[in-house]
Amino acid sequence: MNLHEYQAKEVFAGHGIPIIPGKVARTPEEAERIAAEMGGTVVVKAQVHTGGRGKAGGVKLAANPAEAREKAEAILGLDIKGHVVKKVLVVPASEIAQEVYVAVVMDRAAQRPLIIASAAGGVDIEQVARETPEKIHRFHLDRPGSFRSYQARAVAQHLSEDPKVRLRMASVIEKLVAAFWANDCSLAEINPLVTDPEGKVVALDAKMTIDDNALFRHPRLEAFREEESGNATAAREMGLSYVPLEGNIGCVVNGAGLAMATMDVIKHYGGEPANFLDIGGSSNPEKVTTAMRIILSDPNVKAILFNIFGGITRCDDVAKGILAAVKELDLHVPVVVRLTGTNEEIAREMLADSDVLEPAETMDDGVKQVLARVGGGRGI
Ligand code: GDP
Ligand code: MN
Repeated sequence: MNLHEYQAKEVFAGHGIPIIPGKVARTPEEAERIAAEMGGTVVVKAQVHTGGRGKAGGVKLAANPAEAREKAEAILGLDIKGHVVKKVLVVPASEIAQEVYVAVVMDRAAQRPLIIASAAGGVDIEQVARETPEKIHRFHLDRPGSFRSYQARAVAQHLSEDPKVRLRMASVIEKLVAAFWANDCSLAEINPLVTDPEGKVVALDAKMTIDDNALFRHPRLEAFREEESGNATAAREMGLSYVPLEGNIGCVVNGAGLAMATMDVIKHYGGEPANFLDIGGSSNPEKVTTAMRIILSDPNVKAILFNIFGGITRCDDVAKGILAAVKELDLHVPVVVRLTGTNEEIAREMLADSDVLEPAETMDDGVKQVLARVGGGRGI
């Protein structure tokens, strides 16, 4: 789960990282009122789950309250890389002497978190990595509590000429590492971490991604969840793993491995899956109905493929769910069903009378059938 800047700043502040407190506005008038309360120049910042807001026109300075209203009006409703701005953060503007980059990310290849630091902050870090990789410094972490102050100072060594500033940055890095561990992050990033003309250090931006699998340990963070699609909520509540994709073939599969394999076979024959969906190992007809409902709500879906390998999952239970869904939902697309394993004969019998369901013998057959129904693919 991604946090908004204002949420991540709140978490960072809780770990002692210096930030400039701001307020969230949902309307231009609200932004104006906040700016009036703060006095002086403010920055109006789009709160969306994507970076590069500055370049996209989502971060603007406003010299007075009226201007804050105008900027908020321009930013609210803006589409930044597919994210529509619904909220802006209004913060007193800072004077910037230097911008640096610090982050802790999960380095999957190394199976350890990694501190990334660069004196070239404020800009796109990917660009820095591409064009001037020597400006990026890395430090791997071992385990919670293992990071020492002298190591933080060593990282900060690369960030500023001023020893006092370096110490302050080292302290921020230590706190960022602590925040990363404490919140089960996969990313905790400050870009830019800035110094003002007096050498004071403050986090001007904040980005945080929490590992979804650890969210149950952080009820306070879970409360930050919002703007999630109804489908994502329904899937989560029903215990389904659901990831929407771009294609037109809805997939209902049991087991993550089989779900991935099914998507691979669809791709292999030139098709495009509309989603990843794992109904899990249990035999709950209600799960199947929910899965169907979620998939059918995607207007791109032109056909659905069931690929069930019955082990603990019983094919007859899945069949029960499919029949219930067919009855309950407005089924406007063909459904190809491949069921094999526990109780498959019973399941086949149950589905035999249906005139909307098309049985398939094997995974390969099922994929080819469903591809034929959406207008083909490669290699068939
Ligand atoms: P991002 O583009 O989504 O990463 O948004 P940021 O919060 O990082 O803002 C982009 C840029 O706007 C920063 O790198 C700064 O240069 C600038 N900026 C943001 N806040 C302030 C501020 O308070 N004062 C000044 N002068 N510039 C700011
Ligand atoms: Mn930024």
